[in-house]
Amino acid sequence: MTTTPDLHALPVGKLKGVSASKAEALHALGIATAADLLEYYPFRYEDYRIRNLTEVKDGEKITVQGTVMSVPALQRYGRGKARLSCRVTIERWLVTAVWFNRAFLKDQLTVGREIVLTGKWDQRRKQLTVTESEFADKAGGRAGSLQPVYSITGSLTQSWMRRCIEQALEQLGGYIEEVLPGDLLTRHRLMARREAIRRIHTPEDTREGQEARRRLVYEELFLFQLKLHAYRQVTRSRMDGVAHAIDNEAVLAFAAALPFELTDGQKKVTNEILRDMREPYAMNRLLQGDVGSGKTVVAAIALFATVKSGHQGALMVPTEILAEQHLRSLQGLFAPLGIEVALLVGGMPARRRRDALAGLQMGMTDIVVGTHALIQEDVAFRSLGLVVTDEQHRFGVSQRSILRRKGMNPDVLTMTATPIPRTLAITAFGDMDVSTIRERPQGRRPIRTYWVKHELMDRVLGFIRREAAAGRQAYIICPLIEESDKLDVQNAIDVHVQIQQAFPDLRIGLLHGRMSAAEKEEAMRAFGAGELHALVSTTVVEVGVDVPNATLMVVMDAERFGLSQLHQLRGRVGRGAHQSYCVLVADPKSETGQERMRVMTETDDGFEVARRDLELRGPGDFFGTKQSGLPEFRLADMSSDFGVLETARDDAAELVGRADFWRDETYAPLRERLSRAQIFEGDVLD
Ligand code: ADP
Ligand code: MG
Repeated sequence: MTTTPDLHALPVGKLKGVSASKAEALHALGIATAADLLEYYPFRYEDYRIRNLTEVKDGEKITVQGTVMSVPALQRYGRGKARLSCRVTIERWLVTAVWFNRAFLKDQLTVGREIVLTGKWDQRRKQLTVTESEFADKAGGRAGSLQPVYSITGSLTQSWMRRCIEQALEQLGGYIEEVLPGDLLTRHRLMARREAIRRIHTPEDTREGQEARRRLVYEELFLFQLKLHAYRQVTRSRMDGVAHAIDNEAVLAFAAALPFELTDGQKKVTNEILRDMREPYAMNRLLQGDVGSGKTVVAAIALFATVKSGHQGALMVPTEILAEQHLRSLQGLFAPLGIEVALLVGGMPARRRRDALAGLQMGMTDIVVGTHALIQEDVAFRSLGLVVTDEQHRFGVSQRSILRRKGMNPDVLTMTATPIPRTLAITAFGDMDVSTIRERPQGRRPIRTYWVKHELMDRVLGFIRREAAAGRQAYIICPLIEESDKLDVQNAIDVHVQIQQAFPDLRIGLLHGRMSAAEKEEAMRAFGAGELHALVSTTVVEVGVDVPNATLMVVMDAERFGLSQLHQLRGRVGRGAHQSYCVLVADPKSETGQERMRVMTETDDGFEVARRDLELRGPGDFFGTKQSGLPEFRLADMSSDFGVLETARDDAAELVGRADFWRDETYAPLRERLSRAQIFEGDVLD
């Protein structure tokens, strides 16, 4: 009896021609099974198709076929080096073919023999510098074809890899099974999986390679989206989260006691969040809103609600400065209500840290504010009900599973001020629900933004003086000059000296990454308390810092920042009732640099800035970073395949929503994929 081999269970070492040492080299590339090998796609092709000399440009790499016309000449020079040349007719031209260090070919190059040459063409000298050659009378060559090029390391060579994959295709290609449902194949006119895998390794022509790739890119993105959507569905149905008993009256009273009325947007998202918190599944919600839209108070209400229902809350922020700031504002809100707020950050004295940990474990602390380490280390909670992350890249599934291993499955709210256009958000965060605050609190005046050249620095100084005289404060931000933050710091120090010299009577603060935590804290405190007229800083103030009396944001060398970063920086002002200004000091050379400055002066709506940013950079750049939360794909490329990702997202969402997906035999291979990715344990996603 013959059984169908399971390619995912068949070790590469068992394949024909794969020795133990080769198997080891393959393992180093992440290839463990036959399936891994077949899915190890080439990243480009080497073109050995025979070309016409008439269509070749000078300096191009080409493959041509011709006849040897002269006895080859061999010159030896240097240490063991050799130059071999002979005349070859190609079509109706007589050209010179030159080989380096291939002396052994001399005897094989007999006059009249047909030969295929690959190399670089020198139009003027009618000469071809040969890199590869083979005789047409020898079978099994690469001439006339597209040869795949794989990413390889160690003892592996391209030709061995090609042969190995070709043999695997011959031996096992017939067992490659389809994973995509038939209706999707038809709808998008995609070739069968078996065929696509064969053709991507051995395409007849470029088009065939492209079609094979198109099918496999779709598959990759579809499976990714399917995982996100299935994960979300599974989490929602699992009912092992915290079903908060929300005390409506207390929440309303808390909101009513705030010094301002919530905006409609804040009310809407608060309701969405509280609705999720009531449910027995673990909330996984993204709250996006422009800088200054008032996300913190929404988080505070959610934290209040979790405490009122007998649980603890955690607020995670990216920097210690922000942690301190949030600690102060939350304490202001909660201390009168007898709700205990504590701090937990890396640089704490051991003694204070022990106390903080004990408070959390025993339940004396209701809310903890801290950096990322908060939930990862030896931290234990009595009953963690809600985790809020602020201005942080997303709270990943791996962090969730850390908590789950501790027996906790809290609701998670992720806040971001980098608004992502809705379709993109759903695409990148398919496993999350999205809440959006569109407007800013009433009475905020738009920030006036100016772009000035360096030569106008005197005017900028005048601006700082004017705001200081009016009792307002200014930030002066210095960019990252180099990868090294030493230069970065030096730049800030220089600017600080310069401005202090210009205004001996003003108090100018300094803040940078090389200062101790205590020094940073003191600088921030003094600025927040209005004791400084201006603060010269590196980008440590970029996110979240809230000093309503600051009305002027000066960004030095603004062309060095990306649009979303500039918008973030600008968001540090315009947080109070006074008219605020942003001055970008920049002499951008590139067209896109100038365009960025223009966008900034034209709009201060974060969603519009994000849209223009996306236009300028393209989704590849937007999502090409690790922070985006998107995984690294094998084939797909976010700049060229973003549209496919959107299609795949719609298809996956639709499929997961159908009841038959979860039981029908047709979808068994897909469900099998999901369970192999441990989606049902809710553990592995990123
Ligand atoms: P962000 O969304 O950027 O985190 P914050 O939460 O820091 O914004 O809020 C910015 C400022 O607006 C804070 O000083 C906050 O107290 C204030 N604020 C928040 N909501 C309102 C509101 N509804 N009306 C007036 N001011 C508000
Ligand atoms: Mg904030």
